[in-house]
Parts: sequence; C-alpha cells; structure tokens
Amino acid sequence: MSVWSTKIIEIPYWCNIASLLAICRGMKMRETKKSSKDIIKDMLSGDADKIWSASCAICSLSQNHDKMMELIPYKEKMYYATRNIELGGAIVSNHRFLTQAFKVLEVHEKGEECPCSLLGEDASPKHLLEDGYFELMDVMYFSKSSYIDYYIIRCNRCKKLYKVEERQYHYTWWSWQELKE
Ligand SMILES: [Zn+2]
Repeated sequence: MSVWSTKIIEIPYWCNIASLLAICRGMKMRETKKSSKDIIKDMLSGDADKIWSASCAICSLSQNHDKMMELIPYKEKMYYATRNIELGGAIVSNHRFLTQAFKVLEVHEKGEECPCSLLGEDASPKHLLEDGYFELMDVMYFSKSSYIDYYIIRCNRCKKLYKVEERQYHYTWWSWQELKE
C-alpha cells in the first residue's frame, strides 16, 4: 500500500460537519423570507420535504425573536405533526434540522439564554452584522492577503464577544468561539 492510499482515507474530522452543512447550504442560513404562516403550514403538512424546508427556515431565523414568538404558540402542534415523519437524508438524518428548529424555538420561549448561543458553523458573521444582530469590533486578515482569518464581533443583545474564524473547504464556514473578557 502506498503512502497515498493511506492519506486518502484520512478525512479531516470537520469534513463530515461540512457535508452536513451542505444540506442546508442552499439557504446559507440567511434569514428566510418565508412568512410565519407558511412555515407553520409546512410544519403541519405531513410532507417530509416541506417539513425539512420549514425546519431550515426556522434555523435561519434563530436570532429573530419576533418571528420566533409568532411560531411558539404552534410549537406543540408542530412537534406532534412532525415527530413520526421519516425525513431521510443521505449523509445523516435530516431530523438534525428538525431537532435544531425545536431547540431554537425553545431558547426563545424560555428566554433564559441569548439566542447567540445557537450559532455555529453555518452562521455567517457578515449576514448577522448586516441584519443588525452583531457589531463588528475587528477583522484580522492573513498576512499580505485579502483572506479573512477571523472576525471579532459582539452580540448586540447580551454583549458577548466572539472570535469567528472564516474557513474554506469547498465553501466558506465559520468556527465560533466565545471570548471571555
Ligand atoms: Zn447574545
């Protein structure tokens, strides 16, 4: 066996995370334009594709408290309408997005922790800055290049500081790390 064949099977640990994110990437986790009424309708539809798409829509609105409050009265109904639906998914069960959607709703409903705690690899700091959820404190570039290494951003709600590294692997993703002051 050559050295190369060993190399090929050494898939970086984050490759799987990247593949998972690719599923919902069509939306790039930009806030959906779907109305709350349509999201609720899709979640209650019994149709696996519509449920998956509505789950992604809810995930994309993870920082939008007003929108989430519109959905919360239907949370239980949505839970019972989706719990036995087979969502499929080639790489991993698409239930991941459904589970995350209910987590987003729960965080907003309880109001105990800031929704910024929900952000991860698929959350673009650029979008969050544009949408007014965060304030940009600093941008660091790789030396002598225009490639962004990381952002320092602050949540406008809870004022937590985050170091968000920008990474490329077929597409852009981000590593979020809370900075303790
Ligand atoms: Zn926050």
